[in-house]
Amino acid sequence: MTFYDRKIELQQLKAQAKEIKKRLEVLETKISRLCQARPLSDKWKAFVDEGKCVGCGTCEKTCPTHAIKVEKVAQVDETACIGCGWCVGQCPKGAIRLRPWREGEKVRKAIRHGIGYPKLGLG
Ligand code: SF4
Ligand code: SF4
Repeated sequence: MTFYDRKIELQQLKAQAKEIKKRLEVLETKISRLCQARPLSDKWKAFVDEGKCVGCGTCEKTCPTHAIKVEKVAQVDETACIGCGWCVGQCPKGAIRLRPWREGEKVRKAIRHGIGYPKLGLG
């Protein structure tokens, strides 16, 4: 191995170490968020005001349980949301808030308003 080869290898190793350090930082941030994320209660879930959401994706990136998916606007998977409220503070448009949640709420609302289940995505 020539001096030049060693120099190249050293540069590659340094680049790999830098990449690993970066990934480690991301993992540490995720771990720290997961540790901070405490369920307020099973009865609280995040809700998105679709009129305010601009689909920036900040909430999706920061949710510790990956409960949010953003296509045009953010959608919350209530089964994965633990009601920690992290996304509420992260949204730049104030489009997310926590609301009390009861199991079967959508079904009850559909019955109350006489709306068909398929319209609520329950069909
Ligand atoms: S409150 Fe927001 S950040 Fe927390 S789990 Fe639910 S969707 Fe994710
Ligand atoms: S952070 Fe707020 S504006 Fe951005 S996608 Fe999420 S809900 Fe929408």
